[in-house]
Amino acid sequence: TASTVAQQKIVGDRNPDIKHRRLFINNEFVDAYSKNVFEVLNPSTGDVLTEVADASDRDVDLAVKAAKDAFRLGSEWRRMDPAARGALLNKLADLIERDRAYLAALETLNNGKPFQDSYNVDIPHCVAVLRYYAGWPDKMNGKVLPVGGDFFSYTRREPIGVVGQIIPWNFPMILLCWKIGPSVAAGCTSIIKLDEHTPLTGLYTAELIKEAGFPPGVINILSGDGPHCGASLVKHPDVHKIAFTGSTQVGKIIGAETAKLVKRTTLELGGKSPNIVFADCDLDTAVEMSHFALFFNQGQCCCAGSRTYVQEGIYDEFVQRSVERAKRRKVGDPFDDTTEQGPQISHEQMDKILDLIDSGKRAGAKLQIGGQRAGDKGFFVQPTVFSDVNDNHRIAREEIFGPVMQILKFKTVDEVIERANDSDYGLAASVFSKDLDKAIVVSNGLRAGSVWVNTYDNFDPVAPFGGFKQSGLGREKSEYSLDSYTETKCVTIKISERNS
Ligand code: NAD
Repeated sequence: TASTVAQQKIVGDRNPDIKHRRLFINNEFVDAYSKNVFEVLNPSTGDVLTEVADASDRDVDLAVKAAKDAFRLGSEWRRMDPAARGALLNKLADLIERDRAYLAALETLNNGKPFQDSYNVDIPHCVAVLRYYAGWPDKMNGKVLPVGGDFFSYTRREPIGVVGQIIPWNFPMILLCWKIGPSVAAGCTSIIKLDEHTPLTGLYTAELIKEAGFPPGVINILSGDGPHCGASLVKHPDVHKIAFTGSTQVGKIIGAETAKLVKRTTLELGGKSPNIVFADCDLDTAVEMSHFALFFNQGQCCCAGSRTYVQEGIYDEFVQRSVERAKRRKVGDPFDDTTEQGPQISHEQMDKILDLIDSGKRAGAKLQIGGQRAGDKGFFVQPTVFSDVNDNHRIAREEIFGPVMQILKFKTVDEVIERANDSDYGLAASVFSKDLDKAIVVSNGLRAGSVWVNTYDNFDPVAPFGGFKQSGLGREKSEYSLDSYTETKCVTIKISERNS
């Protein structure tokens, strides 16, 4: 990922202090109104790490009130110069960079992702995203319109207002920053609901938001569950937009609910992304990148390349090399600096993955390696590779969200485009080929929001990300995401005489 933060190898602190367990409303840390808390687990061991405040509808009300007050006409936030909003984002990026080692350690403790990834991928990407959006507030121009008659007409890009943002557990810090960046750049105020599995880094970031100097109420952060806390944010009449990242199943519930109030909604949902490997590819690159496409982040990526279509001439060799690569994949303690794969997020996710692996075996796909839980402590799953997968197997159709690779065989370009597009999802896709003409034709034929050619998971902040079909609505990152945080207003003024 592009970032100004340099890659380094350092040893991560296995026992980072957990400094924040309470809700962040109006720049204050407060208990839940009910005083309820919930447990947060360490996925590497299954042990309880700590308890954090469990926000419910009453807390959502308070947070929405704070965000609404911060957005009132004449408020400090509404009167702030656009460039000053950008400076706040840059300051927050500075503080995240300052606390990079601590945040990375806390992320690894709570999420289980390898420390080297938290430190060298997640946190640098957060800094890059915030700095990217820091440049936008004073560049979001309206237009003067050449209307007919004696009128003067212009557009303004105004902030949508109070925004509710709900994020999942797979990239807690990154998705937090994907939400904060465009919301602040556009001048909105927000209430962010963290995922109940991974609230720790988000609650700490609240302290940095305060330290950076954001006025009270501009960003409020809640830890709480989906059905109560998340749902009451979605339904709240004073929330003007919902931005959700998570499962397609919950995205549909949210979309149905927000439609009732015609609330602006963006959804970044699941995927079953095709990765197409042509016989004329650079095989070393294709094997390594296809492995990365699927196994990165324990397979817990909405855009994981989870249908690997390989052309018949190289199929057997590709399978053999992919199995060798998966065999070398080092699973274990995420704080060990040689570990490539940590635990899954929860027992429930581990069970779901193992169940899908069983369905693959029963359906007749060939289990080449793995297939079981790794160890008996924590939520680890062996790197698993299936060959001889058919398009109608559950493992080729459903999102597994785990370290399970499906390799399918194809013959022709037309056939593979049709099969790749035969999915309810359309988040990402990739093509491996040295023939650029073919790569472009195939890329343009794929129904997916991101297509990567001879690479995977390029997440530059400049590039939009989001789904076709049931993978979502709208785009995250990039200037495109700003459209969903702004309303376009047109002001038309009668004048005595308009001349050309
Ligand atoms: P989820 O969709 O249930 O949870 C994501 C977020 O939505 C969490 O913050 C959760 O609290 C909240 N939520 C849940 N129900 C809600 C509701 N009714 N109203 C408002 N908010 C609600 O995802 P999950 O259960 O953690 O994972 C299930 C599956 O989702 C995974 O196996 C995976 O396939 C998929 N997933 C996708 C992504 C992604 O980035 N697209 C991320 C995580 C999970």
